[in-house]
Amino acid sequence: MGTKYVYDFEEGNKDMKNVLGGKGANLAEMTGMGIPVPPGFTITTEACVYYSKNGEYPPGLAEEIDEHLATLEKKMGKKLGDSDDPLLVSVRSGARASMPGMMDTVLNLGLNDKSVEGLTAKTGNPRFAYDSYRRFAAMYGDVVLGLKPESKEERDPFDVLLDAKKEAAGVELDNELTADDLKDLVGQFKAEIKGREGTDFTQDPKEQLKGAILAVFDSWDNDRAVTYRRMNNIPSDWGTAVNVQAMVFGNTGETSGTGVGFTRNPAAGENLVFGEFLMNAQGEDVVAGIRTPLPLEQLHDELPEAYDELMRIRNVLEEHYRDMQDFEFTIQEKKLWMLQTRNGKRTGFAAVKIAVDMEKEGLITPEEAVSRVEPEGLNDLLRPVFNPAEKAKAAKDGRMIATGTKAGPGAATGQVVFFAADAHDRKTEDPSAQLLLVRHETSPEDIKGMAAAEGFLTQFGGATSHAALVARQMGKVCIVGCAALDLDYEARIVRIKSDNKVHEVKEGDWLSIDGTTGEVYLGKIETLPSEVEQVLFQNTLKPGDSQVYQDFVTFLGWADNIRKINIRTNADTPGQSEQAIAFGAEGIGLCRTEHMFFGGDRILAVRQMILAQDEAGRRVALDKLFPMQKEDFIGIFRVMGERPVTIRLLDPPLHEFLPHTQQDIVAVANECGMSVSDIEERNRRLKEANPMLGHRGCRLGITYPEIYEMQVKAVIEAACQVKGEGIDVKPEIMIPLVGSAREMQVTREMAVSAADEVIASRGIELAYMVGTMIELPRACVVADKIAENAEFFSFGTNDLTQTTFGISRDDVRGFLPTYLDKDIYEVDPFQRLDQEGVGDLMKLAVERGRSTRKNIKLGICGEHGGEPISVKFCHRIGLNYVSCSPFRVPIARLAAAQAALEDNQ
Ligand code: PEP
Ligand code: MG
Repeated sequence: MGTKYVYDFEEGNKDMKNVLGGKGANLAEMTGMGIPVPPGFTITTEACVYYSKNGEYPPGLAEEIDEHLATLEKKMGKKLGDSDDPLLVSVRSGARASMPGMMDTVLNLGLNDKSVEGLTAKTGNPRFAYDSYRRFAAMYGDVVLGLKPESKEERDPFDVLLDAKKEAAGVELDNELTADDLKDLVGQFKAEIKGREGTDFTQDPKEQLKGAILAVFDSWDNDRAVTYRRMNNIPSDWGTAVNVQAMVFGNTGETSGTGVGFTRNPAAGENLVFGEFLMNAQGEDVVAGIRTPLPLEQLHDELPEAYDELMRIRNVLEEHYRDMQDFEFTIQEKKLWMLQTRNGKRTGFAAVKIAVDMEKEGLITPEEAVSRVEPEGLNDLLRPVFNPAEKAKAAKDGRMIATGTKAGPGAATGQVVFFAADAHDRKTEDPSAQLLLVRHETSPEDIKGMAAAEGFLTQFGGATSHAALVARQMGKVCIVGCAALDLDYEARIVRIKSDNKVHEVKEGDWLSIDGTTGEVYLGKIETLPSEVEQVLFQNTLKPGDSQVYQDFVTFLGWADNIRKINIRTNADTPGQSEQAIAFGAEGIGLCRTEHMFFGGDRILAVRQMILAQDEAGRRVALDKLFPMQKEDFIGIFRVMGERPVTIRLLDPPLHEFLPHTQQDIVAVANECGMSVSDIEERNRRLKEANPMLGHRGCRLGITYPEIYEMQVKAVIEAACQVKGEGIDVKPEIMIPLVGSAREMQVTREMAVSAADEVIASRGIELAYMVGTMIELPRACVVADKIAENAEFFSFGTNDLTQTTFGISRDDVRGFLPTYLDKDIYEVDPFQRLDQEGVGDLMKLAVERGRSTRKNIKLGICGEHGGEPISVKFCHRIGLNYVSCSPFRVPIARLAAAQAALEDNQ
């Protein structure tokens, strides 16, 4: 038998996501659990992949679809598009990873001029039949025939006709239109399709079905899906499955309806069912914002039995999946049907709360809790809040002018833009722009512009609308369904009604939104650090007063128990070191000493050192720098206590420190006792064509040994002094940019002799290490020889990426966007470690380094040390620690724990 491309819902289960997509796998799972699900079948992702490559169905698919359709028709006792009693189906996309709203759907398929009459006769409900038909015509026109708005100002052509119809009929809502109105509308829709596309709206149900299936396949590669995949690192070769399912109808009258929900609050995480519904409506109405949906609790008043059944299923789903679920349902004449369930997307905020709560409820283990939170999501807990004093003042001044549904926590202040494309353009022009996107509602086309905004504010839509969904995923601040807004896109103005007053906010005006409370404020409001930071650093909040902080600590405590590797930080000052410890850092993996050279009046001495004519002149300058460096290190050692501290000797090219302005040149000339022209001449000589590959790193230490000697002495004197204070300091001296065994040997000898001289003169016992950064491909290859003189390796993957790819770190901007667009690189290799190339060199260095020195200590201190997927790789190749900036330490702790858990899978 050839490949099987089609599965009935009875044939699948939740573990078949790769083949059936998330939606198909879970429809199958719910079917197996005995939950009421309308019957149907799923066409596999493999069929889509074949179609994407070959532009046609794979062999055998058409026949398989026919067979499964026949089975479905038998089960339902109806035939697709039959003129007496038609079976109608929905055709819905569903990839392995959820891509909400990015791909296409067609509902009510099987209707035509004859079957609509059959449906009317069978149900005795012409209004319902024609309502379904006009929906189908519009969706088919849009999705299959491609009839869409042509500019950002243009509205959906079917919506325009619908609105005109409502106006002519003198009604406000679509559900107030009569059967005749709707019938007339179908005619108009068909004419619109014929006029714009030159094709007739097909009457053949089989042709409709094939058109819809191909359109769903094609939607895998539409712009918004491609952008979404890129943003979420979903591979482009997965393809989408297609679910063909018997329709159930929420639009048959006042005992029918449809809705969506979450088993817990996806924004804040509270253990309360959360969602919304519309009576007498079909699925797309809830998210489209045409009518404002009602909160799910009100379903209790409308249809108590259906509500109770939904609550029962909510509990069954949570117990079965042991995770928060996001579900869709339809009620047809009081009978509840489930149309989807999946693990619900949630803010990082909610993810931590739900994980901690579910552990407390005994539903999951700490290990499961740890695996449930995306490491980057922890950033949500560190998101800004408004300065309470400023916010209170704004409220007192009457600037709190509206509220809406909170959909993405945090505080955002920005200049108003009304079009996503404008937000994207403005941010591209000015990356520092702070923008707030204000719209009726957002749609998947807006995705790029949404990424450019600090937050979103919408007039319509509820907590499950597109804007809310995207906010949760992108970690943006968001308020939806803010009814006080009245947008005028053409005039680029939003009027906000508040207590009999109307405030006009124009494009470019400032507005502030609090996504944690749902409040909208006029003007700018200062933002402050998160609750976690207020407890840890500002001391303005007590731990006991912040549930967020307590959950953060509990959760990361579990991660710490699980992870195997250590987490260090890249810090250059005592302040940063303190911050990093508060976030859980266990040492410093990289202290860049050159950053200290720019401080205060040091730069003059640094310049004197560089510009000196000879060694004697350099030593004069170094003597000035020595006490300052020593003080720096004392500060850091005191803060770090017994934790290891890796200090890297001077690395950047000297010209970075040179004077450029005339004023600076004169000052240095005076300090050095040299002429201005001498300084200018020296400046010229130090200039390099490729400084990144020039006179930097250990090459500096080898040509000017007195610089490294001064730095080592400063480190060791500081260490001796702090040790004398009773702290068992652990200094680690690190040599940068080593590429040969001799470089390591020579610099190590220099460092050891300088260090031992200090230790001997102090009469103190002090253990220290000397090691190197591994930042060059050659260093990886000769790592066994370098390890003879290096007690540790720390992978400097910023430089290692630069030198492996042969791309300058500073010049990547010119071509990277094109490379990403054309899929030449999947991601920016400076952000996420290139495991295949750079990572393989790292593996080689690990192996060869260990072959010489079995217990060599191994770490990473490039930016990748705080990027979750790279952290997991570092765990797998056996590094002892990763080191990252202080604010990424919690993320690295979590990623390292997840890496340890993944070992057991
Ligand atoms: C590196 O190259 O990865 C590194 C940490 O050093 P720097 O970024 O200072 O060159
Ligand atoms: Mg480097």
